[in-house]
Amino acid sequence: MRKFPEPIQIATAALNRLPGVGPKTALRYVYALVKRPAKELETIAQAIKALAHLKVCEKCFTYSNDSICEYCSNPARDKRLLCVVSEPRDIATIESTGEYKGLYFVLGGVLNPIDGQTVEMLRIKELEALLAKSEIISEIILAFSPNIHGETTILFLTKLLNNLNKKTSRLATGLPMGAELEYADEVTLMNAIKGRTKI
Ligand SMILES: [Zn+2]
Repeated sequence: MRKFPEPIQIATAALNRLPGVGPKTALRYVYALVKRPAKELETIAQAIKALAHLKVCEKCFTYSNDSICEYCSNPARDKRLLCVVSEPRDIATIESTGEYKGLYFVLGGVLNPIDGQTVEMLRIKELEALLAKSEIISEIILAFSPNIHGETTILFLTKLLNNLNKKTSRLATGLPMGAELEYADEVTLMNAIKGRTKI
């Protein structure tokens, strides 16, 4: 087994925990970092440390500097619309289209029982509680990636939301099947939001 100085071993193990970063890639990143000036490494360390202080919005569960995020606290947003997304990063993708002005709700994943992502692990109860007390919400847009897990989640939520008598819509086609929402180009995604269909 190859032996590296301890700080390199520790940093490599830390980066190796990130998705898509294998041990070899992690080691390559660490050696690239070691070459950088100490001041730059300090800046990177501080940026990572700041992430630990990010809060989660009490209403929609996206990451936020405050206990209520910039969308939930913005009086200009259309409170009749609620867009349900899988992860906080999907909000940035939808915002980049400039087409949607409503509020969001982060479900915390999509249904994927094979990988252990079951109904209990998603914020289904929190979504139900929000809808139970917010009579103003008239349309719920299910904005998931058009793949098998996104479709399973849409099917599950549609059944659940139908009982609440709320209009439910989903992103229009145009997004290729099997695609990840975050990689969709802005025009395709904008059209998908505009042409959302009632379920
Ligand atoms: Zn929020």
